[in-house]
This record gives sequence, C-alpha cells and structure tokens, in this order.
Amino acid sequence: MTFGEMDIRLLDDGTFKLDGGAMFGIVPKPLWEKITPPDEANRIPLRTGVLLVRHQGGNILVDTGMGTKLSPKLRSIYGLGPSLLLGALAEAGLTPDDIDIVVFTHLHIDHAGGATRLDDSGKATPAFPRAEHVIQTAEWQAAVNPNERTRGSYVPDDFVPLQDNGLVRLVDGDCDLTDGVKLVQTGGHTDGHQIVVLDSGGRKAAFLGDLIPTVSHLKLPYMMAYDLYPMDLVARKKALIETALAENWLLIWQHDPNIEMGHLRRQGDDVLVEAGSSLD
Ligand SMILES: [Zn+2]
Repeated sequence: MTFGEMDIRLLDDGTFKLDGGAMFGIVPKPLWEKITPPDEANRIPLRTGVLLVRHQGGNILVDTGMGTKLSPKLRSIYGLGPSLLLGALAEAGLTPDDIDIVVFTHLHIDHAGGATRLDDSGKATPAFPRAEHVIQTAEWQAAVNPNERTRGSYVPDDFVPLQDNGLVRLVDGDCDLTDGVKLVQTGGHTDGHQIVVLDSGGRKAAFLGDLIPTVSHLKLPYMMAYDLYPMDLVARKKALIETALAENWLLIWQHDPNIEMGHLRRQGDDVLVEAGSSLD
C-alpha cells in the first residue's frame, strides 16, 4: 500500500506456535484462553510478518522471519510451517539481491533466522548478500555473548556470517536510517530491541516488533515471559499507545495471526484496533 512517499507491505513468512503461558506471562490462562484458544499442547497460533519498505532510498526489509535452517525437531516444537518470505518477496516483484538494507528489531531466531541460508556445502551464508544489516550495538553484544537465560533465543549462524561478510552496521540508540525511516531503541523485550517508525506525507506508522507482538498484547499487563526487562517494556508500551492514539499512527503487528495493521481507538478504559488497512 502507498504510505506517503513510500510503498509498504507486510510480507507473510508463515505461521508458528508458542506456549500460550509464555506468550502472556503473568496473565492467568482462564483470561487469555478466551481471547486466543490454545491447541492440545497449550500452544497458540502466531504469524511472522516481515515489513518491506520501498523507498526512493532503496528497498528495506525489517526482520527476516524464521528462515529455512531449523531442524525437523525444532520445526515440530514450534509448529513451524514453511518459510514463505522469498515467495512473498517475489510476489512483490523483488529478489533477495534487490534488498539494500535489512533492519533487525532484534536477533532472536524468529526475527533473524531468515537472514542466512545453508549453501550447497551446508554452510550458513547471507540470504540478502547485497544488503547492509542494521542492528543496535546492545543487541549485537547480547547475541554474541548470551547468558544462561538468553542462549536459547540466539543462533550464531543467523548473524555471525553477516559480520564475516562485512554486512553488519551497528547503531547506538535512536537514529534516522534514511529519509522518513527512523529506528527507535525501545529496550523491554531485549535491551537492544528497536522498532521502526515511518514518517511520510504527514502520516506516521510503527512496525512494533516484539514490543507489542499481537493485538492482545495492547493490554498493559499482557507481556511475554520472554521479555527480559518487563518494567521498561510496560512504560514504553504505554507511551507508544498514547502517542499512537494522539497522532493517529498506523500500527503494524509482526506476530498477530489475524490482524496485520490498524489504527487505535479508545473505548472507555480499553484500546481497540480499527483494522482497515488491508494488505494487497
Ligand atoms: Zn518475535
């Protein structure tokens, strides 16, 4: 869809499933299961969206989905369907060589997995070989020096080959990536987590990453057990919701299984999504 001077599209990389309890943290199951019924293994359905921004400054992808490197065992644990990203890119008329910049909200497996693929010899190699890959320094450091809590979320083969090929650009804090495309370090989910804010033709939009992964997570206490800094997260989420309401931002959800984007409306104490911006 046209967004000011840009064209934006949420590419669907496919579906996966995670434990409902982990996705909703401290919220009791009798509350969350009414909104999102779990399967027999207590998992809820999720989608992985990848944002494509076509811009006079080039073609930008935000995140790369799960990719194709996971073992059959892990694919089964995550209920992971086939990766649809390259097909969705082709439908948009682009090949991996056409991507100029890849931005990572953070380097967890469901965001960075598609940044590399296995070559014929089984070695992980960059999937977008011409692209500069932009990452917060804090996120890079967390990913290359994981601790006991975070080790399971990072797969070195997703991002080390990018550095080996000279494709990584580290940034520190908020910055303008290019005209109308701003990176905002939010922390919360991880210290180096960032969102992408678009500002074009008088309109604003935000790709939320894991700050607000699904529409259900708009409720302030609905946070993931994966969030490393929950009090930071709730403060950032609250501030973003207020700004989005006041300035009528278009919000783009990365993991919601049903709603890709929409504007917020306040109704009593609740914040609702007025979905409307369908994707072509
Ligand atoms: Zn995620």
